[in-house]
Amino acid sequence: MEKVKVNPGAQSYEVRIGSGLLERVGTWLRDRGYSGKAVIVTDTTVRGLYAGALGEGLTHAGFDVSVLEVPPGEPQKTLAGAARLYEGLTDAYAERTTVVLALGGGVVGDLAGFVAATYLRGMPLAHVPTTLLAQVDSSLGGKTAVDYGPLKNMIGCFYQPVLVAADIDTLKTLPDVELVNGLAEAIKAAALGSRKLFDFLDRNLAQALGRNPVVLQDIVAGAVRIKADIVGEDEREADRRTLLNFGHTVGHAVEAVSGFRLKHGQAVAIGMVAEARISHRVGALAENEVFRLEEVVRAAGLPTRIPALDIGAVIEAMRHDKKVRDGKVRFVLLRSIGEAFLSDKVDLDLVKEVLGG
Ligand code: ADP
Ligand code: ZN
Repeated sequence: MEKVKVNPGAQSYEVRIGSGLLERVGTWLRDRGYSGKAVIVTDTTVRGLYAGALGEGLTHAGFDVSVLEVPPGEPQKTLAGAARLYEGLTDAYAERTTVVLALGGGVVGDLAGFVAATYLRGMPLAHVPTTLLAQVDSSLGGKTAVDYGPLKNMIGCFYQPVLVAADIDTLKTLPDVELVNGLAEAIKAAALGSRKLFDFLDRNLAQALGRNPVVLQDIVAGAVRIKADIVGEDEREADRRTLLNFGHTVGHAVEAVSGFRLKHGQAVAIGMVAEARISHRVGALAENEVFRLEEVVRAAGLPTRIPALDIGAVIEAMRHDKKVRDGKVRFVLLRSIGEAFLSDKVDLDLVKEVLGG
């Protein structure tokens, strides 16, 4: 098992990454001083697979366990979905010290995190991510959110968990398309923060796709370390934290214009390649580095080119990006693979040309 400490301001928490962790979460929480009720929030699919093991460990550690279930998928991530969970918490007589365990992918993590942050003005939260995307990205950094109409993640707050336990064994049952989706965020972390992790991914993608647990653990731990290093500095969207958005200025726009037919990881993959090309065009990144990124993205089973979408609409969508400041669209660019920087000097005509090319 690997442990990574995340230290956002006053509170700090540990991310534990390894095999056979589900059963042990209860003991860790008890050792940290939590007791009484525990509520597992999960989706129907993940409940059938993993709520048993997590619940048994919690019961064994002395917790009084209840399970709240939501149907799988993004449509649950709404204020109405949160309200249904508040009702469940009320029915379970949840108290302010009751631990909420978010067991599932990014959807469950964002929704359960939001509910834990707001019910009774905040309950202790443990993330138990079961998708690669949630393990390498969304369970870290304390973001919680629900969607508001067509606007993704519009309502939410920063709320830090007391523990994150990424059990690699849960990835065995993850559908291929979800595994590939998560690989995009792992490649992103490497591209912006660690050439060593990038080289590792390059050499071991086939093993990762074959669910080699040792390789997956190294990928998750590597990505977590990069993210922990960055989010540990500042909880808000300060400049360094913004670097975690590599691939996301173009990615979010492409995802939205596709009407969310593209998965987040696919859109980010297209975004990373486009933003690497932009980096080259502004003279920051060597062309062979662009090719290398493109090759790794392709080898992971991710798209590198924008599908038939209205480029004008994609550019327009970028103007609504969360990173826009003083009307300027900001991009995370690469100086090399492993080193990123923030720029507000990218001409949108160049972006248009790169996307169209
Ligand atoms: P993401 O982490 O990409 O935001 P979701 O939370 O929407 O994704 O989860 C994606 C899908 O994968 C959901 O249908 C969920 O039920 C399913 N899922 C999550 N974890 C696992 C797992 N370990 N094994 C099988 N299916 C899973
Ligand atoms: Zn992302």
